Amino acid sequence: MRKPTKYVFITGGVASSLGKGIAAAGLGSLLIGRGVNAELMKLDPYLNVDPGTMSPFQHGEVFVTDDGAETDLDLGHYERFLDKPTSRAHNVTAGQIYESVIRKERRGDYLGGTVQVIPHITDEVKRRIMSLGRDKKADVLLVEIGGTVGDIESLPFLEAIRQIPYDAGKENCIFLHVTLLPYLSAAGELKTKPTQHSVKALREIGIQPDGLICRTEIGMDSGQRRKIAMFCNVPESGVFQSVNVDVIYEVPLMLHDQGFDDWVVRQLALEAGEARIGDWESLVERIRGSRGTVRIAVVGKYIELQDAYISIYESLQAAGYDHGVHIETVRIDSEKLEEEGTGALEEVDGILIPGGFGQRGIEGKVMAADFARERKVPYFGICLGMQVALIAFARSVCGIKDANSTEFDEKSPNPIVDLMLDQKAVLNLGGTMRLGAYPMKIFPDTLAAKTYGQLEVSERHRHRYEVNNDYRARVEEMGMVVSGVFEETDLVEMIELRGHPWYLGCQFHPEFQSRPLRPHPLFNGFVGAALNFSREKAGGERSKEANHAPSQPVR
Ligand code: GLN
Repeated sequence: MRKPTKYVFITGGVASSLGKGIAAAGLGSLLIGRGVNAELMKLDPYLNVDPGTMSPFQHGEVFVTDDGAETDLDLGHYERFLDKPTSRAHNVTAGQIYESVIRKERRGDYLGGTVQVIPHITDEVKRRIMSLGRDKKADVLLVEIGGTVGDIESLPFLEAIRQIPYDAGKENCIFLHVTLLPYLSAAGELKTKPTQHSVKALREIGIQPDGLICRTEIGMDSGQRRKIAMFCNVPESGVFQSVNVDVIYEVPLMLHDQGFDDWVVRQLALEAGEARIGDWESLVERIRGSRGTVRIAVVGKYIELQDAYISIYESLQAAGYDHGVHIETVRIDSEKLEEEGTGALEEVDGILIPGGFGQRGIEGKVMAADFARERKVPYFGICLGMQVALIAFARSVCGIKDANSTEFDEKSPNPIVDLMLDQKAVLNLGGTMRLGAYPMKIFPDTLAAKTYGQLEVSERHRHRYEVNNDYRARVEEMGMVVSGVFEETDLVEMIELRGHPWYLGCQFHPEFQSRPLRPHPLFNGFVGAALNFSREKAGGERSKEANHAPSQPVR
């Protein structure tokens, strides 16, 4: 019989953005390497049902799973580190919990009882945690709690995890607290007091951490470790540190070097094999050995935010690792491009336009798509980036001057990107977005076919508008090739440009399936083309591997 799931609960203290998600993902990947079936989930204390409706300024990227859930960007880290798909059940928000409890209340399920945070909300949180462990047959479920200890919002979640050891057995649960040791340059030392206070706040609500991961800019010494252990009531062997690293994929190695995975295995008495960290080691080695730099322009609205396009950046880097080159992302504000012209694009080796919503900055993106087409600069348009490439092409090559998407001009006389008829019918009911994985058929003898190395793939979507098939013949006549479709309803999924070294647009989001150890073929192909472009520009030898083939196909 399968042993019941064990749990690692990961909370954060002192400050946000400590890399809790990356530490959790790093631990998960170490455990998987040891043959432990580890799963990761994220609990988010905000009241939005999901982050789909939140601005990237508030929340960063929305990560989309195969089953079409719009989730927290930490799930992207989980998938990249574990190379295992997540699902709707892997990200639970307070909004979802309250929604389901209130729905039950309206149905009369509580039989006249008073519905309260404890036990009703906390029970629902526990139910979601424990059912994921069960459904996934996880040996260990790592549960990351968003926010910082001390926030009012996280209290019901913390109370729920405090109770789980009573249901699942104390010996089957550990609590890890990720905290900050700030460095005060005036005093020349790391300060432990905020950590002590944060652990005190946890203890006040009944949680004594078993281990600590202390985020520090410089490593702590043995005296500091002893002090933290003593005042936080944690054995010294349970105090770990997370020092700043150049590349996040060094995190598993850094944790392993401190014996962190061994410690977790011992604490939970897990049946685990020897650690296997070879893949991460060779990746880090490859990164360190990279030569040369390829400059990729990312033209978007939220370029000042590191988190808004995090999967895009990670996918570009992963392709760079594979090609053994450094990727410098040149982040270009599409609105500035409108005002200042395309000068900034002169210096780059490739142009990527990521997904986006709304009209702001659109004309700048159209300019970038034109620039790449005319100057034969490698171009990769993702979702909105594909739609603008098509609009640009229709306007300047097909002479349809007022071609547009009805997202930006509802009354456009030439809606080359539009809502589908069935969508228009249900628009008032909401939920019209195409979300999650769809199969795609790729046509042979196209750049897409060559780049993927296969003709049937599955890709994840998050968009409302589609290419209007009424215009398909006209653009194809002029040299735009439809290279991938969703056959069932004949939707255009990929376009490319005949006679251009690498100009490709996709209606889906390949960045959600790219992994550091298994970069997505489209990113790999794009970076390969950009590398060729930079070499040609430098008058260097043309790479023999134009349109670098995928290292491995995507699932
Ligand atoms: N706004 C566009 C649409 O809804 C593109 C969405 C996206 O880029 N993710 O179709």
